[in-house]
Amino acid sequence: MITAKNLSKRYGRALALDNLSFSIEAGEAVALWGANGAGKTTTLRCLLGVQGFEGELRVNGIDVAQNSKAARAAIGYVPQETRFYDMPVLETLHFYARLKKASAARVGAVLEQVQLTAHQNKRVSMLSGGMKQRLALAAALLSDPPILVLDEPTANLDVQAQRDFIQTVQALNQSGKTIVFSSHRLDEVIALGSRVLVLSEGRLQLECAPPELAGKLGLHRWLRIWVAAQHKEPTLQVLNEQGYTFMPNGRSVYVQVSLGGKIAPLRSLEQARIPVEDFDLIEGEMSPLEGNHD
Ligand code: ATP
Repeated sequence: MITAKNLSKRYGRALALDNLSFSIEAGEAVALWGANGAGKTTTLRCLLGVQGFEGELRVNGIDVAQNSKAARAAIGYVPQETRFYDMPVLETLHFYARLKKASAARVGAVLEQVQLTAHQNKRVSMLSGGMKQRLALAAALLSDPPILVLDEPTANLDVQAQRDFIQTVQALNQSGKTIVFSSHRLDEVIALGSRVLVLSEGRLQLECAPPELAGKLGLHRWLRIWVAAQHKEPTLQVLNEQGYTFMPNGRSVYVQVSLGGKIAPLRSLEQARIPVEDFDLIEGEMSPLEGNHD
């Protein structure tokens, strides 16, 4: 669906993309991960055909350098934040449908897809941040493009709105849309992504399955959990069954957790009705063997 070969982009003397190559199959949900300035937005802007680049880029079989408009028509784009005129939701989407030359009959369908039907008569200024972002998604879906490109779409949302938004995008992916998104949030990369491309200084540093990301980048932390002596064995059993990496240590046990799932072991123990006496999250990269041994 998307192939990039030796993609490079210079801003003056700065090299934002440096011979970047990757390909994305139809139906995938691919995350772009990387520090600020790693090149995520530049990559997405190349896909959208809104900036020049060196190298080869094909979107839905179309050469972006040769026919950026046709390539762009295959993509629905959702930025971090969209500014709308303060009109009712329904009118806003009819306005976008006219702009994009999409059929007005699509409006009802996209409202359903993003669960905004019940809010269609509200003015945009009355919507929550999460609803506004779903409205932007609805606008991107009007022309029913095969690909959705989302640039840190949940960066400004609270946790619940973030979850709702990601669930909506997941459903779109399951219905066949190819998704490319950038994110700084490990939990959403794991929830939504089928693969993650890690960019560093405009180059592809590594690609992996999202659950492997934390381990490969050293993003793990250790959670130390204290339970009463009689609960020690059942605790180890639960952690083992759930596939955690852990180390018993005196009255406590160290469990390796990802940044996006810091308290997940506590939930597992709660579900198994094992009372936790205390816990502590150990920040930094320290090995638990360097900790206190009491
Ligand atoms: P962020 O997470 O902060 O959005 P990013 O991974 O999206 O970062 P890019 O915005 O693609 O990174 O930027 C890649 C590099 O290109 C950075 O060094 C940035 O300073 C530079 N850059 C991006 N846009 C421009 C521009 N319009 N003019 C000059 N330099 C730019």
